[in-house]
Amino acid sequence: MLEVRELDVRYGDARALDGVSIDVADGEIVSIVGPNGAGKSTLVNTLAGLHRAVGGGILMDGREVTRIAAHQVCRQGIAVVPEGRRIFPDLTVRDNLELGAYRPEARAQRDATIRWVHELFPRLRDRGTQRAGSLSGGEQQMLAIGRALMAQPRLLLLDEPSLGLAPIVVDGLFEVIRVINASGVGILLVEQNVRRALEVSTRGYLLAEGRIVLAGTSDELLASDAVRRSVLGI
Ligand code: ATP
Repeated sequence: MLEVRELDVRYGDARALDGVSIDVADGEIVSIVGPNGAGKSTLVNTLAGLHRAVGGGILMDGREVTRIAAHQVCRQGIAVVPEGRRIFPDLTVRDNLELGAYRPEARAQRDATIRWVHELFPRLRDRGTQRAGSLSGGEQQMLAIGRALMAQPRLLLLDEPSLGLAPIVVDGLFEVIRVINASGVGILLVEQNVRRALEVSTRGYLLAEGRIVLAGTSDELLASDAVRRSVLGI
């Protein structure tokens, strides 16, 4: 479904991504792990159309999407949950969700998708009329994921979804990631919680200093010296 080929991204003269190639097949969960500053957010943001690649390409179902604008990304079936959530704090929870369905195809299915999102996250139904800014951190993360699902993506990009959440909330979050994936949505998961990310995913990539230094099954990555040294601190 998603193919990233030899992607190069720079900030001025600094190379943030250097020849990065990754794949996500239909319905897969794939993790990107790596130390701080490795380029993980740069990769997600480039896939989201927020950075321009200076080399390489991004294909969705074989179609070139490398240089499309951010607002066109969701038309390709990709939805992004950025680091820091970026919900609209002054709008209600329900309005935040409805905004996720702005694509005409998604809008036509809006009520059915909201019912599904409410099943995944019953809190969002209970708090539908509340200001989104009044939600707890965990609830805001649920809202950010729920809003992305409202676009009916085939691929969900999650950038550090567990950041700053209490351990019990993180447990629920990873369970929901599993359920979303079981419904057929492919997931590219960027996480600092490396062990949890690799436990929920089938495959993963270790990114360091802008390069993919290791690719393999999640079990291979968890057992590898490179992952243990560079991100698990063992
Ligand atoms: P973290 O987990 O700390 O967010 P990351 O793996 O997501 O790290 P990026 O945020 O993608 O890494 O950063 C990759 C490199 O690019 C880092 O060296 C960072 O300092 C640099 N960088 C990121 N954003 C910018 C920017 N807007 N301008 C210049 N350099 C940047």
